[in-house]
Amino acid sequence: MKLVDFLYLQQKMLERVRFAPSPTGALHIGGLRTALFNYLYSKKNKGTFILRLEDTDQKRLVSGSEEYIEKSLKWAGITLDEGPSKGGPFGPYRQSERLRIYKEKVNLLLKSGKAYYAFDKTDTLSNLRLSYEQKGEVFKYDSSVRDNLDNSLNISQKEAEKRIKNEPYVIRIKVEKGKTKVKDLLRGEIIIDNSILDDKVLIKADGFPTYHLANVVDDYLMKITTVIRGEEWLPSLTLHKLIYNAFNWVAPKFVHLPLILKGNGKGKLSKRDAKIGGFPLFPINWKKEPGFKELGFTNSALINYLALLGWSKSSEKEIYTIDELVRDFKLSGLQKGGAKFDYEKAKWFNHQHLSLMNYDKFQSLYPDELSKLTLVYKNRTESIFDLVKGRFSLVNDFKNETDFFVDDPKEYDASIIKTLSEYNVIELITEIEKSINKNNLSNIKDELAAIAVRKKTPIKITMQILRVAIIGRLKGPDILLSLKILGKSVTLNRITSLKKFIKNNQ
Ligand code: GLU
Repeated sequence: MKLVDFLYLQQKMLERVRFAPSPTGALHIGGLRTALFNYLYSKKNKGTFILRLEDTDQKRLVSGSEEYIEKSLKWAGITLDEGPSKGGPFGPYRQSERLRIYKEKVNLLLKSGKAYYAFDKTDTLSNLRLSYEQKGEVFKYDSSVRDNLDNSLNISQKEAEKRIKNEPYVIRIKVEKGKTKVKDLLRGEIIIDNSILDDKVLIKADGFPTYHLANVVDDYLMKITTVIRGEEWLPSLTLHKLIYNAFNWVAPKFVHLPLILKGNGKGKLSKRDAKIGGFPLFPINWKKEPGFKELGFTNSALINYLALLGWSKSSEKEIYTIDELVRDFKLSGLQKGGAKFDYEKAKWFNHQHLSLMNYDKFQSLYPDELSKLTLVYKNRTESIFDLVKGRFSLVNDFKNETDFFVDDPKEYDASIIKTLSEYNVIELITEIEKSINKNNLSNIKDELAAIAVRKKTPIKITMQILRVAIIGRLKGPDILLSLKILGKSVTLNRITSLKKFIKNNQ
């Protein structure tokens, strides 16, 4: 028994799933979601998650995409059990390294009469397409025309063998008349009349297999039990089933995931939507284009949001860690209809995940965000983090929230200065200054209230004046707690600066 089969027998009952992207550019969030559902399903069933690179379309390859795919999955916390960089018993996991296998397999189909060589020139086929178009019809290379075209079905085997040595050719599947039954686990069984199909190319003129052949051969040889992929592949399902049938192989189960739609639900989410909406489509930076990571998303929040784009558990639960997703994931929770993408909702998830994150985790993930603060505050930095926690939705906003702890305000919000000018700010701030000078910062709240009463001013105004002096604006964390961290002398210096500013601008 081959080692591969032995290993397979050992885990026979376990699910084997694969994510099979083509390295033709950056992995977008739709692809990441497909990878995620495969991962969740495999882990839920204690199965195997495989990465296979479908790089047979040589013209469309984009350098760097393979590394990008692996890097993105890693960032997202989606770990591989088998794959190009990881290896495994069913490799190689790059289709371009499996050409010999496809040749060998397609020969079986040629021998059994399920496939044939076709020598038709590109021009002949384009002219045929054109003439059909002019008649308002669509040309299909199928049982109705194949007898009159230039293929091995119409010549002797000997001649065919001679021609394949000297001429370019493709290999096509011979689709017989009849009906084919296909099943998608979400949509149920459908019976398709083969007459709508054509004799699709299995091996191209450059000797590479088409996606269809390579995909079926690999899913079979890699012992894939369930294919989970995007809905855009649903139209290919019948052809894939025909290829399985031609080989006499049992097909895996299939699930086609719902599309990710534009926010208004009208059509597939596109690059243009992302550009207009000012949001990324890629998980991490791709050739200078920032991804979710660079815009301040945590991997856990993006994964949580993507999982809920097309999947849900009946409970109200929305916030999940990846382990909780594994625990709760079931194919039955997938929806058939498209899922609308909502960037604001994605940010809301990020806000929730950041609010739940503790200081140690934040420090280990984002040391740069904390570096300036730690320089000044050392181990008191944690109290600053706790103070602003829950106040920011993107990691990148953390610095804006906390910059005043290290830098004096560079400017004062003009509109608030204008509003405050109704009051005698100089008099009020001088009172505040005096009381801070005299007292401990811990009494500041009572002091502000007392000043407000004395000066017949709303307490809100005394608070606002202090806030503007310290932060430069009204938005910010609890001012009294902030003052305790900043300390008396910084507070007094900033009050002096605001006084100067007001005097100079009166
Ligand atoms: N290579 C295909 C893609 O780029 C894979 C489709 C499938 O999973 O069968 O999405």
